[in-house]
Amino acid sequence: MESSGKIVMGRYELGRLLGKGAFGKVHYAKNLESNRSVAIKMMDKEMVLKVGLSEQVRREITTMRLVEHKSIVQLHEVMATRSKIYFVMEYMKGGELFDKVTKSGKLTEGAAHKYFQQLISAVDYCHSRGVYHRDLKPENLLLDENENLKVSDFGLSALSESKRQDGLLHTACGSPAYVAPEVIGKGGYDGAKSDIWSCGVILFVLVAGYLPFQGLNLMEMYRKIEKGDFRCPGWFSQKLQKLLYKIMDPDPSKRISIQKIKESTWFRKGPGVTLTVKEPSENA
Ligand code: ATP
Repeated sequence: MESSGKIVMGRYELGRLLGKGAFGKVHYAKNLESNRSVAIKMMDKEMVLKVGLSEQVRREITTMRLVEHKSIVQLHEVMATRSKIYFVMEYMKGGELFDKVTKSGKLTEGAAHKYFQQLISAVDYCHSRGVYHRDLKPENLLLDENENLKVSDFGLSALSESKRQDGLLHTACGSPAYVAPEVIGKGGYDGAKSDIWSCGVILFVLVAGYLPFQGLNLMEMYRKIEKGDFRCPGWFSQKLQKLLYKIMDPDPSKRISIQKIKESTWFRKGPGVTLTVKEPSENA
């Protein structure tokens, strides 16, 4: 068991547990030479081999090395001992964006606008390098000390080389509530288009405080996703609603592109000015 105070590879002192993922734990740590704060994701080699994940881990390393962007959690280095693999990453002091949404119920359109711009900028950058995240959800969106969003966890991402000859991805992955209809279906799908869909679901959740597609069971939720059956609540601005219906179009060939999202009024200008009525001061 890894524990606080332990020195890893003679260079990092482990601190508190930040979180647990499906494939390992993430600890806060300090680089003993530079005093820099980092986050270290630790995986048991044995477990990785046992569940046949070594290919996925290799892919995660390759992918994380390929991407360097201000809105993507940076991988500093990968180290391995006989029994463990350590991913040394940029430390995200602000934690998960999801926690922030849960705490406040929902975000204002203005706050969601900033995060959405940062998310789209990261996704656009990845797509231009042939990298598709495929598991975009609020839990994978972390905040730095300045409350800026960064995308993490490329564990399930696929490089464009893994596309079959028809140019479509074939592995069904992603988190149920955030996956595009074509990912649920048996045919292949375009990684770029399905990431765009997930960005739409994320944007909806940030401003609504709940998921756009819900059902009493998974089948019911999938049926709604397949039909693109969702409704924006009344407090969404008209411009935001228009954009969301274009993003969550169940037909991937009609779904809006990243370029068009960036050109949309809501993306460029946000929700607009909200009038705040000032109380007249006593001396006025
Ligand atoms: P999966 O289970 O699909 O691997 P995950 O996002 O649940 O994905 P991890 O990537 O292992 O799992 O991360 C687990 C948790 O650790 C995150 O949800 C987050 O709270 C925390 N965490 C991960 N990376 C960092 C980081 N760089 N800085 C701060 N906290 C982090």
